[in-house]
Amino acid sequence: MSQLDKLWEYQQAELELAKLNKEMHSSPNYQKRSKLQKVLREQMDVINGFETELETRSAQLASMQTQLENLLHDYDLEKSELDVMETDEEATPEELTESKKAIEKLVGRINALSRELNALVESCDKLAESINTTYAKAGKAKRDFDAVRTVCDEEKEGFAPKIDELSKKLDAIRSDIPDELFETYSTFKKNHSAPIAPLSNGRCGGCHMALPAVVEKRVQAGNTIVRCENCGRILFCRQ
Ligand SMILES: [Zn+2]
Repeated sequence: MSQLDKLWEYQQAELELAKLNKEMHSSPNYQKRSKLQKVLREQMDVINGFETELETRSAQLASMQTQLENLLHDYDLEKSELDVMETDEEATPEELTESKKAIEKLVGRINALSRELNALVESCDKLAESINTTYAKAGKAKRDFDAVRTVCDEEKEGFAPKIDELSKKLDAIRSDIPDELFETYSTFKKNHSAPIAPLSNGRCGGCHMALPAVVEKRVQAGNTIVRCENCGRILFCRQ
């Protein structure tokens, strides 16, 4: 058997293997598995997004709580000062008014910050709720996924002996093919499923284009790799 016949045999085994893989991956269970996998990935992305958002908001919350503590501290100070002033006969009415104004201003800021804090706490709660809901959905998708994966694994086991046999066959044939020829084949294989085609009745078996007699002669001579002028496939004459 010539090297090109070997390569042809290799290609046939490879195509058979591809067909088997396609058949395995197109079963309804496998399709369901792929779909659920996609759903799971999307849900995890959503959860990750929510969690990042929650972290940001928690950091905001901590910073606002510190601000509130500082304001309350300032309020306490101002209030004690006012208490002292109110018992101090030397304190002027202007000083008292100023102190009261400062306290009012602080109360205003404390109230505004409290409202902001409450709104933020509420939004964090909602976010946490969304995370829980998405987790529950993801949990269901994960259970469905695990169940269908088991079925797919069983299906795969059914294909395994044939796939194994073909893989071994490919390895065995490969060792009989020279590297240069195999490289040409592999490069072409990246874009075409069948890089080698028989030449019969002066036509390329791949694209069916009629080729000049000289091409057929070169293929028959078998000294070099001859490729179809039209589609680029490696040509060979069946022996
Ligand atoms: Zn061709």
